[in-house]
Amino acid sequence: MSEISNLQVAQIEEIVRKVLHTIGNANPESIKKDFSSTGYNGRNFVGIYSDMNQAIDAASKAYRAVREMSVEQREKIITAIRELTRNEAHIMAELGVRETGMGKVEHKRLKHLLVADKTPGTEDLVTSAKTGDHGLTLVEMAPYGVIGSITPSTNPSETVICNSIGMLAAGNSVVFNPHPNAVATSNYAVDLVNRASKMAGGPEVLVVSMDKPTLESAAIMQSHPAIKLLVCTGGPGVVKAVLASGKKAICAGAGNPPVIVDETADIKKAAKDIIDGCTFDNNLPCIAEKEVFALRPIKDELIREMQKNGAYLINSIQAQQLASVVLVDVTDKKTGKVKKVINRECVGRDADVLLAKIGINVGKDIRCIICETDFDHIFVQEELMMPILPIVEAANIDEAIEMAVKAEHGNRHTAHMHSKNIDNLTRFATAVETTIFVKNAPSYAGIGFNAEGHATFTIAGPTGEGLTSARSFARQRRCVMADSFRII
Ligand code: NAD
Repeated sequence: MSEISNLQVAQIEEIVRKVLHTIGNANPESIKKDFSSTGYNGRNFVGIYSDMNQAIDAASKAYRAVREMSVEQREKIITAIRELTRNEAHIMAELGVRETGMGKVEHKRLKHLLVADKTPGTEDLVTSAKTGDHGLTLVEMAPYGVIGSITPSTNPSETVICNSIGMLAAGNSVVFNPHPNAVATSNYAVDLVNRASKMAGGPEVLVVSMDKPTLESAAIMQSHPAIKLLVCTGGPGVVKAVLASGKKAICAGAGNPPVIVDETADIKKAAKDIIDGCTFDNNLPCIAEKEVFALRPIKDELIREMQKNGAYLINSIQAQQLASVVLVDVTDKKTGKVKKVINRECVGRDADVLLAKIGINVGKDIRCIICETDFDHIFVQEELMMPILPIVEAANIDEAIEMAVKAEHGNRHTAHMHSKNIDNLTRFATAVETTIFVKNAPSYAGIGFNAEGHATFTIAGPTGEGLTSARSFARQRRCVMADSFRII
């Protein structure tokens, strides 16, 4: 009898969940009407605060609730987060593009589905045991407590959801200080996690964020005693600030991924893979191909094949014109020196929009701008995050590897290679020392898209955790049972 009633309860829960999903699924047309950092289409977000100290208090309360949960309960919430993310991927994708002006809606939708499907949950936490003459020692993966997470504008909601799944799986709660230019999209994701928690029987407020995140609110978070771990995903500035905080930190920093194509590669496939990867979400992902080093014998064929895949070749004069638009002069306040920085108005924009800025009008079928340059060209040296791909000719594999390693700037982030020569592949992989090395595939294979391996949007090169997951957000605790508990 009790089994039947349990079944009925489960069925009712499933129906309620589906109804709640339907209510949450707004008509995409209405996305354009009403969104802010605190609400969306008349619904107020849960977990959004104006004061960082209050946000941290709320996250501390949430952590106490998570501490009481079984692993099964955490997993139930994670399942609900995955479901809501799948259902509302299109909303967050469109919100992200509308709010930031960057990227492509369809690609952002796919990124959310990747997060929902391939971010590891509690199964990622593995207990280890050591037994011997003196008994048993267990090492378990425990939560840190309240984690402070700083998130980027390039993958805003993707990072919030991916971090939330991994951090909750490890038993933590989270305070987010999102990028101010993507706060509405980020806070939509914070609210989604809280809705999922409530639906699955967890606390109403599980993760929190700010309505107006600033460098000041980030600073409060970085020095607050309740924050036991800081996680940041962004460029060099935030990594430097978080590493200087004196707290344990996981930092995911900038990249400038080079691609080498040698004479043994399948050139047709290499050209398509490179353009597919480089143009994914208009080059916003930190792992995306940023510059190509092509060996002399195959360079012209590679360019021709790229042109067949939606690439538009510009000459060196046009490349200089484009450089003067997509990079701007800024005077460094400390040194007084003028330096070139990327024009934020051009980051993540469509290729045809960028070309129009130098008077070249093409259709939407053009998805990438390619140009032949020297190694020293600013397009090679700067992380543009635009669908602009410089191609540098290399006389041989030695020169290609030397230039590619230099262009990566020691970020230890990501590099790619198209080759069938295992010696060349091994030599470049060894020399470049990146966290991710993708062979014969588009860059997004590196985060599990159409490839093996889990997904993450926080790739921690500077601090060494690599592709973060629940185990990165857990600390080890040891329990020793002396002289007993062996079974042999
Ligand atoms: P960004 O560096 O402008 O901002 C990232 C976050 O850091 C934002 O929330 C911002 O408000 C905050 N921030 C910046 N300076 C700070 C400081 N001094 N103190 C505290 N917070 C600070 O980056 P973005 O433009 O949003 O994202 C693009 C950059 O991030 C690129 O360099 C890209 O390579 C990198 N990125 C890396 C990864 C990764 O996994 N390694 C993922 C996504 C983006």
